[in-house]
Amino acid sequence: AEYSREDILNSVEEEGVQYVRLQFTDVLGAIKNVELPVSQLDKAIDGEMMFDGSSIEGFVRVEESDMYLKPDLNTWVVLPWTEGVDKTARLICDIYGIDGKPFNGDPRSNLKRVIKEMEALGYDKMHLGPEPEFFFFKLDENRDYTTEPNDYSGYFDLDITDTSGRCRREITRALDKMGFEVEMSHHEVGPGQHEISFKYMDALAASDALQTFKLVAKTIARTYDLHATFMPKPLYKQPGSGMHYNVSLFRDGENVFYDENDDFGLSEEMRRFMAGLLEHARGYTAICNPLVNSYKRLASGFEAPRYIAWSGRNRTPLLRIPSSRGPGTRAEVRSLDPSANPYLATAVILAAGLDGIKNETDLTTPVNENIYEMTQKERQAEDVEDLPTTLYTALKALREDEVIKEALGDHIYDHFVENKTFEWKDYSAQITPWELDEYLGNY
Ligand code: GLN
Ligand code: MG
Ligand code: MG
Ligand code: MG
Repeated sequence: AEYSREDILNSVEEEGVQYVRLQFTDVLGAIKNVELPVSQLDKAIDGEMMFDGSSIEGFVRVEESDMYLKPDLNTWVVLPWTEGVDKTARLICDIYGIDGKPFNGDPRSNLKRVIKEMEALGYDKMHLGPEPEFFFFKLDENRDYTTEPNDYSGYFDLDITDTSGRCRREITRALDKMGFEVEMSHHEVGPGQHEISFKYMDALAASDALQTFKLVAKTIARTYDLHATFMPKPLYKQPGSGMHYNVSLFRDGENVFYDENDDFGLSEEMRRFMAGLLEHARGYTAICNPLVNSYKRLASGFEAPRYIAWSGRNRTPLLRIPSSRGPGTRAEVRSLDPSANPYLATAVILAAGLDGIKNETDLTTPVNENIYEMTQKERQAEDVEDLPTTLYTALKALREDEVIKEALGDHIYDHFVENKTFEWKDYSAQITPWELDEYLGNY
């Protein structure tokens, strides 16, 4: 939606909004907010709200900590679960420094920068349709989360009678009231595991929507005595949660990935974009799979990709081409998981694809049993590279990929790598129950 100040003030009046949350996202993907009584809204809309950024992860040092929140008026939404004296709306903000420039440690401003680079290449939009997966776990008597799944249904099972089904429906209803178009929701393969996929939006709106979605899912799950988690692999020997990204590029309102004259309906630009996604796959993995735990998902099958390859059908490679053509022609990137900071993930995926277009990179042959050159499959499988298997190797690959580093900018890159290197070191020093079980008796 396109909102003016007047539209927002009307909405405040009509809906009786009492509080406004100014929201933004830190480098690690956490949603941050300050809450204002509605009397301060004018000042906020003018972008005059100052805050101290020194304690925000990946932001700034203490001596340069004053920052401004500049709300994006188009993100105005009244939170549907708030009522009466608590009626609250939110605005997503960009962060500006006291110099009046977008702050380069702000993941959302950084994504806008990468989108501008896309526009400079002649494209109007990247369409992004994300498919986040998550688990519902039960709460215990102290309302702390457990690792007990809330249900034991499976893929596409009908579960509208249990709390998972009702809760999931209420999440989609809230999203609908907030103006998001949910494409579908369903039970996933794992116990207590669900998916809610959105209709595609432009890259920035979809990234905002992912943050909103996580907040909504967690908030509503609590009212059903559930914990919604986006941890990529909470259960041993069960599927992990992915977040497929369906992407396509548009110019003058047309999907440039579609070519009606091509045997497979795919354009040269799409092949190059995909070639870029494959070429930089190792480099962007740390961003798209940012937790130690992310690699437990990638390592264990259950339809999570392990190899850097593409296919029209097969669901094990990194990239798949769903069968729709025309305006719906798209590539599905299957490696991402929902713990990724969506602003950073979207920026690196877009930059990787654009790099393929800029360099006219050739696409390798598909790894696919059913379509294209079947006879090459075996040979192809031989030189297919692996995705990084740990956060450590992913960080190493990130350090070696100048295109992905550029897509993050120095500030975000430095803070991300510093933070994640610490996370890896801390994890590596742990003595796990698995080790004690395996080794304590035998050695
Ligand atoms: N859960 C799988 C993953 O980890 C995806 C399953 C699916 O959507 N088909 O990516
Ligand atoms: Mg799906
Ligand atoms: Mg799924
Ligand atoms: Mg999918």
